[in-house]
Amino acid sequence: MKEQLRKNLDEVIWNIEQARIGVNEHHIVKLVAVGKYSDEENIKTLYELGQRAFGENQVQQLETRMQNLEELPLEWHMMGTLQSNKINKLIELRPSLFQSLDSLKLAEALNQRLAERHQTMNTLLQINAANEESKSGVSADEAYDTYVQIKESCPQIKLKGVMSIGAHSANEKLIQQSFEKTYKIYESLKKYDANICSMGMSNDYELAIQCGSNLVRIGSKIFK
Ligand SMILES: *Cc1c(COP(=O)(O)O)cnc(C)c1O
Repeated sequence: MKEQLRKNLDEVIWNIEQARIGVNEHHIVKLVAVGKYSDEENIKTLYELGQRAFGENQVQQLETRMQNLEELPLEWHMMGTLQSNKINKLIELRPSLFQSLDSLKLAEALNQRLAERHQTMNTLLQINAANEESKSGVSADEAYDTYVQIKESCPQIKLKGVMSIGAHSANEKLIQQSFEKTYKIYESLKKYDANICSMGMSNDYELAIQCGSNLVRIGSKIFK
């Protein structure tokens, strides 16, 4: 398994490298390995291979893994829908980045609980760029205003940029359009210190990087 993981990781890193050099040599892309289909043993193996940033999409699983892998200096990202009854748990876990803040209402609730604990949290605003029923996130039309409003009214939430899942489609053009839309919003938010544009998963990360992504979240291509 270790050899397989090494091969997968090398391939993903190589592809990221090719794609980012194609944008320009100063375009740095961060890789977050998403362990949700895998186990702690494999996460540990990836750590030994040099990977440091890991993501989960459920608070419960994030907690278990953070606890069981506590001895390793890992950076943890939360990237799934956050139920309001899990807010306190997430705050307790102090993730390095909460990537899936998907509404103003959630931001306000999170901000209030953070304030009670004198804590802050680094977050990304999730954008549902392709306007899909199945996905959470603010619409592309509302994203800019929502971002600014959270910035202004939720001081405990440290917004660092945006996250989006590419359009669910076999048509690459549609996926590309959804990335371009998200990137445009990200660019317009740079004046509010947005510096992370999280786009791209196993099936579309190279395209996402070509569209300006500087953080990719990859699960199956690494852990398969
Ligand atoms: C599962 C997941 C990923 C990784 O998905 P793969 O297609 O396996 O790379 C990335 N982002 C989010 C939000 C996820 O839930």
